[in-house]
Amino acid sequence: MAAPHPPIRYQICARHPEAHLFEVSVRVEAPDPAGQTFSVPAWIPGSYMIRDFARHIVRISARAGRRTIGIEKLDKHTWRAAPCRGPLTVVCEIYAWDLSVRGAHLDTTHGFFNGTCVFLRVHGRAESPCLVEIAAPRGSAYRRWRVATSLPRAGARRHGFGSYSAENYDALIDHPVEMGEYSLVSFVARGVVHEIAISGRHDADLERLARDLKRVTEQHIDFFGARPPVRYYLFLVTAVGDGYGGLEHRASTALLCSRDDLPQRGAETQGERYLTFLGLASHEYFHTWNVKRIKPAAFTPYDLTRENYTRQLWAFEGITSYYDDLALVRCGLLSREQYLKALARTLTAVQRSNGRTKQTVAESSFDAWVKFYRQDENAPNAIVSYYAKGSLIALALDLTVRKATRGRKSLDDIMRVLWQQHGRSGRGVGETEIEALAEQVCGVRLGRFFARALYSTEELPLPALLHEFGIKATLGPAESASDRGGHTPEPSGKNAPPRAVLGVRTEVVGGDLKLAQVLDQGSAQAAGLSAGDSLVALNGIRVTTTNLDRLLARQRPGAVVRIHAFRRDELIERRVRLLAAPADTYALTLDERAPAARKRLRDAWISSPAPVRNRR
Ligand SMILES: [Zn+2]
Repeated sequence: MAAPHPPIRYQICARHPEAHLFEVSVRVEAPDPAGQTFSVPAWIPGSYMIRDFARHIVRISARAGRRTIGIEKLDKHTWRAAPCRGPLTVVCEIYAWDLSVRGAHLDTTHGFFNGTCVFLRVHGRAESPCLVEIAAPRGSAYRRWRVATSLPRAGARRHGFGSYSAENYDALIDHPVEMGEYSLVSFVARGVVHEIAISGRHDADLERLARDLKRVTEQHIDFFGARPPVRYYLFLVTAVGDGYGGLEHRASTALLCSRDDLPQRGAETQGERYLTFLGLASHEYFHTWNVKRIKPAAFTPYDLTRENYTRQLWAFEGITSYYDDLALVRCGLLSREQYLKALARTLTAVQRSNGRTKQTVAESSFDAWVKFYRQDENAPNAIVSYYAKGSLIALALDLTVRKATRGRKSLDDIMRVLWQQHGRSGRGVGETEIEALAEQVCGVRLGRFFARALYSTEELPLPALLHEFGIKATLGPAESASDRGGHTPEPSGKNAPPRAVLGVRTEVVGGDLKLAQVLDQGSAQAAGLSAGDSLVALNGIRVTTTNLDRLLARQRPGAVVRIHAFRRDELIERRVRLLAAPADTYALTLDERAPAARKRLRDAWISSPAPVRNRR
C-alpha cells in the first residue's frame, strides 16, 4: 500500500469584492518532478455545456518557497509549472461576476462560488485529500459576513471563515460556498440537520419554508429507504428580482429564485410561484440520490476537460422532474387537482414543440452540450426537452408497470433497486442498464415501451394510460396566447369560433414587438416571416407591444391579413393566411365516475395525506 498523499492546500480569499476578484492559491507539497500540471474544469457537473471557467483567470503565478517559478500555459485551461522541489504554490486572481447557480460571484454585498470556477485541479492527484482555507475580505464593512457551505469543517467554526476539508478534488468542487449576511433557518428531517441560507433582500416566511421543506425532504428520504445518504444538507438560495435556476450537489443545492417566489408572511394560502419554488427544491433534493449517487457510467468519473456523452439524461433529469411534483402531492403540499394542472402543462409544453417529431430523448440527451444548453430561435422546431418529455416517459413507464402488475410494482420500486445496486456502491449505470433493470424488477416486458419512448419520436400513449387511472385528458386549442394548459375550457367556450393565430412566439425588445420564434407549419412561417422581425402593423393598424392578440381576435382562420415588419431596418410587407389555433393544449381531470378498480390504482399512485393548511 502506498503512503497516503499529503493534503493539497487551497486558500480562497474574497480579496477585492469591489473589483469582483477572488484570490485563490493551491499548494502542492511534492509536485511532479517533471513539472506539475494544473487545470481548471471546462464545465460543471449538472450543467451540460462547455463553459471554459479558465477564461476568468486574470493572473496566474507560481512560486517554490520564495522563488518565482515559471508557469507555462499548455492549452485553454491547462498550465505546467517548471520542475521544482516543493512545496509549490500557484496563485490566481479570478474574476467572479456570474450570478448563476453555475458560476462565481463577488461584490461588496456577498460572495458565492462553485469550486469548478476557482480551484485548480492538480494533475495526478485526483484522490489526494484537500484542505481549504476560506478567508474573509478585509475591512470593517465585512465583519458580519459568515460562510454557508456543506464542505466539512476542519477547524472553522460553524458558519465561520477558516478551514474546511474535502476527501478529494471531486468532492472539493461539489460544495458551493456562500459568504455574506444571509438569513438562516434550519430543520431536522429523519435525524439529518438541514439548513436554508438565503442571500439577497427578501421578506420570506422562514418558518413556513422550513416546515414545508421538512415535509419534502422526509418524503424523499422515506421514498428511498431509512438511511439518508447525507449527514447534513444545505439549501443555498439566492433571491433576486427575477430569476430561476437550480444546481444539484452531493450535500447541498444552489437555487436562484425571485424574491416573490418565497412564501409570504401571514398568508393563509401560497400562490403558484411558491409551489414552483417548492418543485425546484424538491427536484434538486431528489438529485441527491438520482444523478449525484445513482450516476451514468459516462460520469464515473467525470472528465472535466471535455463533453461527457450519455443518452440517459431522460432518466437522470426526466425521472427527477417526474418525482419533483409527485413528491409534493404525496406529502400533501399539492392537491391532486394542482398536480394534474402541472402535469397538463408539461404535456402541453411537449405537444407545442414540433422538435418532438424530429429528435428522440436519447438524441436530446446526447446532444445536450450543443443543443438543449445552446438553444436558439429554432429550438421549438428542432429539439425535444429530455426534462419535459423525460418526465412524461417516467410517468408513462410508471403507469404502464402499475397497470401490468395491477399495482404491485411501480417506478418507485425501480428507483429503490437503482439506489441499492448503483447509488450505494457508486457503480455507474450503463447506457441501457435501466431498461434491463426495469424489466427485471417489475417482471414486465418493456422492450417495446423503451424502443418507442426513448429511441423513436412516436407519441407516448398517455391519454389512454391516464384513462386507465381514472383521469380524463382533453386536448384543445389554447384559449389565449398566455394559456399554458391545465384548465378545462369554460362550457361557453365550446361553441366559440376558433381563434386565428400567426404561429409565433413574441417578445418585447425595447419598444418593439419582435418575433422570438416562428413555429413549424404556422401561418407566419408560410408567409416568410422570421424570428427577429419587428412587427409594425396588421392590416394597416399599428402593432404595439400589447395589442397583437386583440387585433388577431377580430380575424377568423382563413382570413388573409397584411403584415408590415422591419427586418434588418428594412420594411417588408407579407400577406399572411391565418390558421386556426392548433389543438395543442391539455387539461386533465379526475374522473369521479371511473370504475372503482381504476380509482384504486389512481389512489395508490397519487395518494396524498389530508391537505395541509397553513397551521400556526
Ligand atoms: Zn435536474
